[in-house]
Amino acid sequence: MEKVKYYNSIAKVPDLERVDDELIKIEEQYKFRTNSYYNSLIDWSNPNDPLLNIIVPRKEEDMEWGELDASNETMYQPVKGLEHKYSPTALLLCNDVCGAYCRFCFRKRLFQNENDEVERDVSAGVKYIEEHPEISNVLLTGGDPLMMSNRRVREILSDLKQIDSVKIVRFGTKMLAFNPMRVDEEFLAIVKDFNEEKQVFVMVHYNHINELTKESIQAITALKEAGATILNQTPIIKGVNDDPEMIRELHDQLTYVGVVPYYVFACRPTKGNYTYAVPVEQAHDIYTEAIRRSSGIGKNARFIMSHHSGKCEVVGKTDTTIIFKKHNIVHHENNGGIMMAERNPSAYWLDDYTFTPQ
Ligand code: SF4
Repeated sequence: MEKVKYYNSIAKVPDLERVDDELIKIEEQYKFRTNSYYNSLIDWSNPNDPLLNIIVPRKEEDMEWGELDASNETMYQPVKGLEHKYSPTALLLCNDVCGAYCRFCFRKRLFQNENDEVERDVSAGVKYIEEHPEISNVLLTGGDPLMMSNRRVREILSDLKQIDSVKIVRFGTKMLAFNPMRVDEEFLAIVKDFNEEKQVFVMVHYNHINELTKESIQAITALKEAGATILNQTPIIKGVNDDPEMIRELHDQLTYVGVVPYYVFACRPTKGNYTYAVPVEQAHDIYTEAIRRSSGIGKNARFIMSHHSGKCEVVGKTDTTIIFKKHNIVHHENNGGIMMAERNPSAYWLDDYTFTPQ
């Protein structure tokens, strides 16, 4: 396969014809990026192609809605480039580039020029992790950590390997969908080496079955052979996968190649993302129907809202009530607690509900 070529401007994408001033204005607001491999998976003659809907801007992105940092992530950043929200887990925001940019990204603020939350020099973050032995899991994220060079990945993993309390490193990545050829021999050797003493989890991000190509499956297989555990997480996105049969098929096909469905997310109310969001109860119906049809392993995925107070699972609905479970929240002593609210079909987020006293 030819070397993958990156495009950072919609005007330069060879197959994209419908570029006009309005779209250029959107691109100036929320960065655009794609690459030649991902472009080759798109049917450019179909304006409703699901992968096209993942990367090509919509004019509706300029609708007033939500916040840039909808889950208030900056509140949990004790040092630059590190987020510590849940006691056992720290996030290293170590890169601010991705293989392409998902239009519905909840971290789109990181790609804006004025943002400085990402820290390429992770030494302060590593020191913080060293000083907090309750941290057993470190998630490399951003942006996409697989957009870093193998040299940087090796340096970070070698620092983390020396911290006794760190048992697991996770890569939060969409590169297996955006450019699976990134998973090269050198990267696999780094994973294998870390796995000799600790565990590598790769948190992949497939939104649609069309992303699960031959090349992508080869990368999954190679990572598994190197000892990594692979879990998938996807939001439900309008025009991409807001269909129970698509989520069911995605989950089933992932399990057939050894990837465990982990989380299905409600879209956070992030600025620019209204056009991609599906109301909570509608998304829960899609998830429930998909789960009903899935195998037992496919049923593993939970439907989650990543609220600033922590992760809440939507566990069910009656005619009048919606039930949430505190799945992983900041005050972890409350995990497992149930919250009930009046049904609200127009709700997009936890804050849109009126809760009934327990
Ligand atoms: S790959 Fe992840 S971080 Fe990058 S644009 Fe997509 S959702 Fe955002």
